[in-house]
Amino acid sequence: MNERTNERTIDTPWGHSQGIYPVIDGVTAHTTATHGGYQLSDDRQNNLEARGMPTVWCREWYEEDCEITAVILGFPSEFAPDVVRGAMQMVNRLKIEVGGTWSQLYQWADARREIKDRARMDHTVPTQCPMCSRSDEVHTIREDYDRWRNGLVIQEAMPYLSVTDREKLQTGICGPCWDLHMVPSDA
Ligand SMILES: [Zn+2]
Repeated sequence: MNERTNERTIDTPWGHSQGIYPVIDGVTAHTTATHGGYQLSDDRQNNLEARGMPTVWCREWYEEDCEITAVILGFPSEFAPDVVRGAMQMVNRLKIEVGGTWSQLYQWADARREIKDRARMDHTVPTQCPMCSRSDEVHTIREDYDRWRNGLVIQEAMPYLSVTDREKLQTGICGPCWDLHMVPSDA
């Protein structure tokens, strides 16, 4: 197969590719009208798996908001230092925000993306922190919110909510108080 053939007609998980750029050997960046990410060659995918990095549902495609960090941190010596630093910062921010494992990060990113696409955040819930009295709000989907109120566990009802937002709904405890009082075990 000639990998340069029909480059302009490539369809990505985020739509028709509008721009293709080489990143490192075996990794190509694609941009689309709405989103973008990396495409990995078979060799790169196998190499990434061999390094114990997580792979994604469509395997060769890694979206730019979250999943490309696995590629960058899988081959840190091949990326510029500031790119690696940016990826580490992104993972740290996501871990604090989402809490947990790579697969949880991916599930959360998928859920967020789905929500963004559906643009259905139609419900705003006011919250108040019992520790510092801070008023806040959580944006969600009415239908999903009702499913939680009717007994479904919150992470199933609203998988796109961050840990912080879940906590705000369940106990009212705000992000800063949560950080103060609940130290994450893997920090
Ligand atoms: Zn608080």
